[in-house]
Amino acid sequence: MKRRQFIKGTAVAGVAGVAASSFPAPAISKDTMEWRMVTTWPKNFPGLGTGAELLAKFITEGTGGRLSVKVFGGGEIVPAFESMDAVANGTVEMGHGAPYYWKGKAAAAQFIASMPFGMTAQEQNAWFQYGGGQELADEVYKGLGCKFFPSGNTGTQMGGWFNKEITSLEDYKGLKMRIPGLGGEVVKAAGGNVVNLPGAEIPPALQSGAIDATEWVGPYNDLAFGLYKSAKYYYYPGWHEPATVLDNFINIQAWEKLPDDIKSVVESANTAVNQMVLSEFIARNNASLRSLVNDHGVVLKKFPDEVLAGLGAIAGKVMNDLASGDPLSRKVMDSILTFRKDAKAWSVVSETAFTAARHLDFPYAEASKG
Ligand code: CA
Repeated sequence: MKRRQFIKGTAVAGVAGVAASSFPAPAISKDTMEWRMVTTWPKNFPGLGTGAELLAKFITEGTGGRLSVKVFGGGEIVPAFESMDAVANGTVEMGHGAPYYWKGKAAAAQFIASMPFGMTAQEQNAWFQYGGGQELADEVYKGLGCKFFPSGNTGTQMGGWFNKEITSLEDYKGLKMRIPGLGGEVVKAAGGNVVNLPGAEIPPALQSGAIDATEWVGPYNDLAFGLYKSAKYYYYPGWHEPATVLDNFINIQAWEKLPDDIKSVVESANTAVNQMVLSEFIARNNASLRSLVNDHGVVLKKFPDEVLAGLGAIAGKVMNDLASGDPLSRKVMDSILTFRKDAKAWSVVSETAFTAARHLDFPYAEASKG
């Protein structure tokens, strides 16, 4: 026993000796990094802010604390929409938001976020992972001084909150609506008066009448913000955001300095969070929708097909025009259009056909009431 303990002790001392000689003492403390993550979300906001917290937890725990990440809500360090600047200029190391918030700095970012009438969440993830999307997003974000990761997805959003019915495209004329990204460009082209506001500013703006209508995300998030208090009609589907990816953007110098094993943890953590955020929305949206309709008297409405088709045609033209003025947007849009064509064809014989089959009128089993 004593001999083994002695050998063990010697071995440990030996390793420590090697470590001490190869790395000067201060290097050991430098091995532990503390990063700050700013977000565009209210702190711990369901699904979005909590997604950022999950990312920080996975990175901190996955690296055994060698890289610990602390999350800050919008406005805690910088205003929500200044998150990208704070990361790019090195005030903080990383951020969490949605790509279309940076369209003023990189027009192509809004194509990455979501294309009106574009792709579902799963198709979007397939594009990132197997369709060249990650590489294109990295190219766009490199121009912003950042590394990009898809870091959550809302899935199909809702069309928004209105106080008047939408029966034709004419109803968008003069409508003052909060709607970001390419969807906002489409509503603008339809005659709307479009504004973008970070999440926290939406409820007071709708309540005061500063805006007539808004979209935010979907039932889970919209219920949390109490948007039903200031608008009567809740329209679907969210043609403007059939699925929206959230972004984790990392200061490019900070990213490049990371050891490979920590880079790998950050990448895996984002892959996990990307899926978990989407799962959370899918798991929680319907109960929230039920509550909006049953407890809060919200009137659920579907956009008429002719309105959707009209918006679809405007969307195609608006996106083409935007892409014509910016080569990188064109590159991203072309890549998505090519991918979308195959995804759409496959969907016809897979999910679209299955969903229609599931809605056929036939008796089916019900869960037993325990
Ligand atoms: Ca939205």
